[in-house]
Amino acid sequence: MTSVAFLGLGAIGTPIALHLAKPPFSLRVWNRTAERARAFGAETGARVATSPADAARGADVVITCLPTSREVESLLDGDDGLLAGIADGVLFIDCTSGDPATSKRIAGRLSARSVAFMDAPVSGGVSGAQQGTLTVMCGADEATLERARPVLEAFGKKIVLCGPVGSGDAVKAVNQALLGIHIWALSEGLVSLSKAGVSASLALDVINASSGRSNVSQNLFTERVITRAFPRTFKLALMEKDVTIAAEFARENRVPSPLTQTVADLLRVARGALGEEADHVETVKLIESWAGCEVSG
Ligand code: NDP
Repeated sequence: MTSVAFLGLGAIGTPIALHLAKPPFSLRVWNRTAERARAFGAETGARVATSPADAARGADVVITCLPTSREVESLLDGDDGLLAGIADGVLFIDCTSGDPATSKRIAGRLSARSVAFMDAPVSGGVSGAQQGTLTVMCGADEATLERARPVLEAFGKKIVLCGPVGSGDAVKAVNQALLGIHIWALSEGLVSLSKAGVSASLALDVINASSGRSNVSQNLFTERVITRAFPRTFKLALMEKDVTIAAEFARENRVPSPLTQTVADLLRVARGALGEEADHVETVKLIESWAGCEVSG
């Protein structure tokens, strides 16, 4: 049995951890809000750890899935921190959609303890996590990926080594920029069409058989906007964080990226207007309010 410590039972962390709560894994979990970890433990039989250090103690693999790399780094230190419990030689997999610079810093700190770090952000949403079909974007060396593979295969279908530490984060951020750009552009388009009296579902049907289609038009808007269901599965706040990472990454590499930067700025406005709990697809509501018109039928 491989002993796994999982920290961060949020919207995506919980369905990922569920795959690790059965053989050949032996799972212990920690969550900032302890009640969530207790409920998970009661449902699955996973051991509930009292602190990050307690979770890491005796684990072969430590997995984190937190909002940003900042929270991951903040769990390392202190008497209750991960470094107080982790053994030399352990594998540390960070499934957070993090930022490359902080991941590299964390990897450097862990390597002083012979702990191998990999950034392993995922894509595929909560449903992909439930089905165990996530795409996993790995930043590590090949040997670390091969060590991690049995764990990643428990919840991932497409597992790709993107390059050294930080590369997984970078690919994920670019993917998220595309997601944000598509959501923003389709929102503008469908609100305009609705205001002009064209049916949005008819327009989506046309777009989905045409060259402008995307996951946003084919799945997200069809299932969530047309129905006005707006399930909360992935926070707008997290998408804004991701697109900001993509803009920062472009800047660090001296690539002019006005579109990515603009959408990062617009999503920051949307986050401020719609709040920390809004789902990413609710972005359309901001454009609807500016236009005085909802996407309709
Ligand atoms: P949630 O907001 O649902 O959960 C965040 C988790 O992090 C919770 O367990 C929360 O604990 C914990 N947390 C927050 N702040 C801290 C802190 N300061 N110290 C310790 N723990 C903390 O986020 P998601 O699960 O949706 O996202 C997690 C990561 O996965 C993000 O990087 C996101 O971008 C990425 N992601 C999310 C997807 C999705 O569909 N939801 C898809 C792909 C990637 P508590 O319970 O106490 O709040």
